[in-house]
Amino acid sequence: MRRILIALLLLPFVIAAQNQPLVNRERMTELFLRLVQIDSGSENEAEICQFVAKQLSELGAEEVSIDNASEKLGGTGGNVFARFKGTVNAQPVLLSAHLDTVSPTKGIKVIRTETEIKTDGTTILGADNKAGVALILEAIRTLRERNLPHPPIEVVFTIREEKGLLGAKIFDKSKLNSRYGIVVDGSGEPGDLIVGSPTHVRFEAVFYGKAAHAGVEPEKGVNAIAMASAAIAAMNWGRLDEDTTANVGVIEGGQAMNIVADRCKVIGEFRSHDPQRVEALVTKWKQICEQVAEKFGGKIDLTFEKTFDAIRLSPDEPIVKAAMKALRDLGLSPNLKRMGGGTDGNVFVAHGIQCLVLPTGGEGYHSPNERLVLKNFYTMGEVLVRTIMELANYRR
Ligand SMILES: [Zn+2]
Repeated sequence: MRRILIALLLLPFVIAAQNQPLVNRERMTELFLRLVQIDSGSENEAEICQFVAKQLSELGAEEVSIDNASEKLGGTGGNVFARFKGTVNAQPVLLSAHLDTVSPTKGIKVIRTETEIKTDGTTILGADNKAGVALILEAIRTLRERNLPHPPIEVVFTIREEKGLLGAKIFDKSKLNSRYGIVVDGSGEPGDLIVGSPTHVRFEAVFYGKAAHAGVEPEKGVNAIAMASAAIAAMNWGRLDEDTTANVGVIEGGQAMNIVADRCKVIGEFRSHDPQRVEALVTKWKQICEQVAEKFGGKIDLTFEKTFDAIRLSPDEPIVKAAMKALRDLGLSPNLKRMGGGTDGNVFVAHGIQCLVLPTGGEGYHSPNERLVLKNFYTMGEVLVRTIMELANYRR
């Protein structure tokens, strides 16, 4: 009884000790502020690639490389890869964030207050995803400088994420030994763990009809715009069920008021957390387009492109369990969530690397109102370090 009482009395101190920050908050903030000064809009990543590669070398990576992705993608810079030895023989973990930002960032004027970092409102901040980059670099620095237990770490800092995950797609995934990973990217509350994101398919449907004078001999024409309209009207759009959305986003065609339109292009997308639902929509849309084209006596040229694969992590995955443990140790309740968009994690998952997505503490992404909430940024530093430490327990 007495022992229990002493344990109960000590409990607050134990919790307090667990809540002692491990990361160097000011150093992480300084690093973030340096990163946002480097202009790195998509296709202009060379300078930031060099900067982070140097940081990774200084942190003692056993291998650092920058690939030649830009030779194929255009623009400058390449995906930065680094490998760190673990302190124990555990399963390696992938840490990933993207280096590019949306525009504009040129002439950025940063304002730091007690609680947040933002711009003067004329540019974006680029916390998406320089906050993620700073979190990963500071986490590794903390682990190594404090000699904390950690598994082998593989780092991929990607380019051209904002252009459709292009850098991650072209990166040579055979370099990676990790079976699970953490993509640090996106807004959200510190307890959020993104364990699901959808499969995404983009389509382009080009309807071909036949041009004719609309007033003199319309019966000789086949109206491609009318064909496209009939097909669109026969399909369901919007939120189709809890897991699934469909959108027709672009339509273009026709030459003039008095010409029967001979061509009409429609661009759209299907997303679902259930990959089979996306397949079903692809089949249905194909059938509708073909039937309409036949009925009108026109032609259809339909292409589909899978942009990314779904992430569907079970709460039993080591990466999820480790993050939940880290959050609870910090006194936070884990909130397993799904999101509607994709990250580089959707590319890695297609190569068998189960990726959890962690938020960064940033808000208002892709807008001049973008800001970094320092309290959340610091908490995410702790979450990241403690999740990686926890993974040291998953021995090979
Ligand atoms: Zn991002």
